[in-house]
Amino acid sequence: MSDRADSAKVTAIDGHAHLAEMEDVQSSLDHARNQGVEAVIAVGMDVASNEKTFQIAKQNPGFVYPAIGYHPWSIRKRDIGKTINYIEKEVGRAIALGEVGLDFKINVRRDLQEEVLRALAALASHHDKPLILHCRHAYERVFSIAQAAGVKSAVFHWYVDTLDLLREIVKAGYVISATPALQYSPPHQAAVRAAPIEHILLETDCPVEYQQKASRPGDVMVTLREVARLKGLSPESVARQTTENARGVFRL
Ligand SMILES: [Zn+2]
Repeated sequence: MSDRADSAKVTAIDGHAHLAEMEDVQSSLDHARNQGVEAVIAVGMDVASNEKTFQIAKQNPGFVYPAIGYHPWSIRKRDIGKTINYIEKEVGRAIALGEVGLDFKINVRRDLQEEVLRALAALASHHDKPLILHCRHAYERVFSIAQAAGVKSAVFHWYVDTLDLLREIVKAGYVISATPALQYSPPHQAAVRAAPIEHILLETDCPVEYQQKASRPGDVMVTLREVARLKGLSPESVARQTTENARGVFRL
């Protein structure tokens, strides 16, 4: 009894979940509610997953909030025009543009990736929506494209780059997000230790596997516990502050 009462006090927002890529969405969301998750930001990767994300959000009003995106992994030259048109048409239904960004580890031409990101950053700026950014081996480039487009609000997802760039991100008023990889990733841990708590969101990137186990939105509580441990703060205060941060960024 008392355990339940205590854990019920700590609630968190999962700022980055691929619900459209999960098989057992509804049971994962039920599990998340039981864990104390109070909202889930669901990101899209392409037209099909954006549509599915809108549908899941519609089925879970006030709990799942949809972002609309075009992930660098999904970029195909022939689909770029129609995907960007789709996003432009539907952006009003979304709370953010994501997941978007650059990934210089994959086999998709960099010029195409940058063309897409510049177009989406311009859309985000024009419609005043936050960007949820994937930046594998490309954090600086993503940061400079967001800055050049005049983007006011951005989440640098799963941040693992230098502390110098982190300072620039914070100075620009942007935030980073933390994942359960904090359990074992030294660069991610270093970033979370260095970032002011006012510039950190919690997330899972589910269904990504951490230590061979597929994640669910409820695992944002693992992220919460790790952020609290690394920063020497109570889980309650981390929960309160990061929830306020997420509500601010996504205007929930
Ligand atoms: Zn993701």
